[in-house]
Amino acid sequence: MKTICYIVAMRAEAKPFIERYGMEEVKDFFSPLPCLLYQAQLEGCTLNVVLNGQQHGSDLLGCEAASVAALSAIQRLHPDLVINSGTCGAFRAKGADIAQVYIGNGAMFHDRRVPGDDAWATQSLGNYPVWEGSQALAEALNLKMGKVTTGSSLDMQPCDLEMIQRHGGELKDMEGAAIGFVCSLFQVPVLYVKSVTDLCDSGAETYEEFSRNLHHACETLRNANEKVIEYLTSQF
Ligand code: SAH
Repeated sequence: MKTICYIVAMRAEAKPFIERYGMEEVKDFFSPLPCLLYQAQLEGCTLNVVLNGQQHGSDLLGCEAASVAALSAIQRLHPDLVINSGTCGAFRAKGADIAQVYIGNGAMFHDRRVPGDDAWATQSLGNYPVWEGSQALAEALNLKMGKVTTGSSLDMQPCDLEMIQRHGGELKDMEGAAIGFVCSLFQVPVLYVKSVTDLCDSGAETYEEFSRNLHHACETLRNANEKVIEYLTSQF
């Protein structure tokens, strides 16, 4: 694997990782787009981290920004593997804990309610494939796997929960399936590495729980990503 490209929404999620590898910003690489590129050369491999960037002074979250970042990154950097790394909500009922890191085994949308025939339903749901090596990596690193379920909001409405439960969603985020969509168009494999900031069924207020656990979750995320990189560079 010669070129790996991380796509990350929030600077807080990427910072520990950028610092760990002493990655340098490649200034204005995606100009006029807000996306930012950080790069490091590892043994036999170029490591890229693409951040969605900012607008109005805050990190761009969500599917639109993630799609722009993924599209630009794939077209400009030609990665062999895209890795979407970030935080997520998860479910205590499914055995999740705060700051636990998961590998995704699929990615779907949970808030696209489009009536119609099976073809529309299939397209709305997404259900994009993950990199075929995801399971072996999860086993080697002793990480649990779960299905990434993506929507445009941090909160969870009853209709979102219904959709998540019906389709076995486990890791609730705001970007994963959008990146899966873009990767599926280019047939570039995608690996999901997600750390839990909040438990959607804990009864706590999500934003408060997210903010309280962000730092811890980003540290376990950096740890896991170090092992992911070690695994990828030693295997290929
Ligand atoms: N902008 C806010 C909060 C961002 S939370 C801040 O002040 O920091 C949303 C980000 O974390 C998204 O990028 C999403 O992918 C992830 N996330 C974490 N927990 C989530 C949850 N329960 N539902 C949806 N996205 C979640």
